[in-house]
Amino acid sequence: MKNIVVVGAGTMGNGIAHVFAMKGFQVKLVDISAAALERALATIAKNLDRMVKKEKIAEAEKTATLANITTSQDLTAAAKDADLVVEAATENVDLKLKIFKQMDEAAPEGAILATNTSSISITQIAAVTSRPELVIGMHFMNPVPVMKLIEVIRGYATSDTTTATIMELSKTLGKVPVEVNDYPGFVANRILMPMINEAIYTLYEGVAGVMEIDTVMKLGMAHPMGPLQLADFIGLDVCLSILRVLHDGFGNPKYAPCPLLVNMVTAGKKGRKSGEGFYTYTKGSKELVLAPQFAK
Ligand code: NAD
Repeated sequence: MKNIVVVGAGTMGNGIAHVFAMKGFQVKLVDISAAALERALATIAKNLDRMVKKEKIAEAEKTATLANITTSQDLTAAAKDADLVVEAATENVDLKLKIFKQMDEAAPEGAILATNTSSISITQIAAVTSRPELVIGMHFMNPVPVMKLIEVIRGYATSDTTTATIMELSKTLGKVPVEVNDYPGFVANRILMPMINEAIYTLYEGVAGVMEIDTVMKLGMAHPMGPLQLADFIGLDVCLSILRVLHDGFGNPKYAPCPLLVNMVTAGKKGRKSGEGFYTYTKGSKELVLAPQFAK
């Protein structure tokens, strides 16, 4: 494998391009938005600078990594000579199905088509292509250059060869791949999201405040951040949509999203990216400040 196409240059796409380029792959980063591509390149350069400063890589490695990345707004042209396409576009079923149809038409026969989806069925995505045996989930964690795990998700029709290739490739990236099957939420979000939802219910029912809940989980369970802070970091809209996938997929009321989460998302409080969730976020500050709603 040599030529990698990454579709979507947002939070995850830029990180995925970064890790492939650092290992010497030729990466084409594709997005419909020119501004997103520009931002992604700036973010990758900034993250590489940080690694140089921390003496994790030499200046020459930074230069070589950046030289391995090109950008494009034309998926069909970019996918023409791809060995692997990793899709990391917005989490929306219709959009992913459309992109996979296009990727399937454009990519060479035999190229593997992977998706970084957090919650959409790999089997459903594979079904719109002519090569379901070559479609697989490659679920990177955020921030991609730092986090070791890749959840490798086998769809119903994914072949053993495709799975073995992606497991091996993940190790080449310096990551630890874990193979799982395609059921709602896979493993990571099936376990994480009910915990976050329960933390929100605990707040909603007045059992404890935001800081108190997060402190219990941080100091009591040695979690690096509390569940409410983590929900803000992931994005409350993303948490809500994954809970809906679990709720619809299993039909079990235990996955019903907490009404407080629904209200917050409806009100536009999406966590860190919108500036406010359970906490408020000011650029450049790392201090945890409660959102006005929860500071009373
Ligand atoms: P994001 O909103 O930061 O970026 C998505 C990008 O996709 C945007 O730049 C958008 O312009 C682009 N896009 C939209 N339509 C496109 C198209 N037709 N062709 C090309 N690009 C298109 O989203 P993100 O947080 O990077 O998430 C991307 C994927 O990764 C989602 O499937 C998400 O579920 C998954 N994921 C996210 C996280 C996370 O913590 N953010 C973690 C794991 C997996």
